[in-house]
Amino acid sequence: MGNETEEHDFLATCDECGRAYAATLTEDGEILPLGARPGCRCGGKSFSPVNEADFDEAFDD
Ligand SMILES: [Zn+2]
Repeated sequence: MGNETEEHDFLATCDECGRAYAATLTEDGEILPLGARPGCRCGGKSFSPVNEADFDEAFDD
């Protein structure tokens, strides 16, 4: 049940619109959304990591 333990891939949501992306951390500790490298579709460039427990909310598109 979603018990994956990969350290570099996680889910992050756009701070602007809440859209969820698979993401990784850069060496600088910044969140880099893998599916939206230039930024979110809404133009947002700030992302927050999501806990798996929050997936339902993250995906209510
Ligand atoms: Zn967005």
